[in-house]
Amino acid sequence: TTFADLGLSEKLLNAVSEAGYTEPTPIQAEAIPAVLMMKDIIGIAQTGTGKTAGFVLPMIDILASGRRRALMPRSLILEPTRELAAQVAENFEKYGKNHDLSMALLIGGVQMGDQIKALNEGVDVLIATPGRLMDLFERGKILLNGCELLVIDEADRMLDMGFIPDIEYICSKLPEQRQTMLFSATMPPPIAKLGKQFLDNPKRIEV
Ligand code: AMP
Repeated sequence: TTFADLGLSEKLLNAVSEAGYTEPTPIQAEAIPAVLMMKDIIGIAQTGTGKTAGFVLPMIDILASGRRRALMPRSLILEPTRELAAQVAENFEKYGKNHDLSMALLIGGVQMGDQIKALNEGVDVLIATPGRLMDLFERGKILLNGCELLVIDEADRMLDMGFIPDIEYICSKLPEQRQTMLFSATMPPPIAKLGKQFLDNPKRIEV
């Protein structure tokens, strides 16, 4: 399989070759076409497998084909830690640098003022840790009912950190008609349950 076989736009194929990638990793080869076909996916994959590009690349293509609405983030990526959230944001900037997409990074340890300002300007992608997202949501600073794309990344680490109730709450605030991607290195029962509850007939990808 080559990147050109996966259904990505020319613009993204350019970003991929600029990143120096010559061929997709196994999770990318399976996840990218499925995400572009609007399927839910469960990816059982560790860090280092290229899973981030596996969801960021098709998300950029999907988001680039729609329109932004003020105050309504169009997609949400949940990460267990600030560091991972920041890394995903870097990936978005790298692959999306030729796209006019706006992003907000909502993590703890950073002043809320700037985050709220970014939200008020309208964002295509929210990248957040559950704690800060819950905080802003409870203060009425975020509307999640326009979020039609959701990524729950590193779900097993979310479980270890006690974030599952927050994730369930956040999922309940998103529209039911949405596309959801769940990634986890392992599939302990609470994560399998989360997948059953919040994903619709997901394609399971194990690498
Ligand atoms: P991840 O598993 O998403 O944390 O990615 C691990 C590393 O692999 C990152 O440094 C990426 O830049 C790199 N990477 C992602 N996709 C590819 C690819 N198709 N070919 C070579 N390197 C890649």
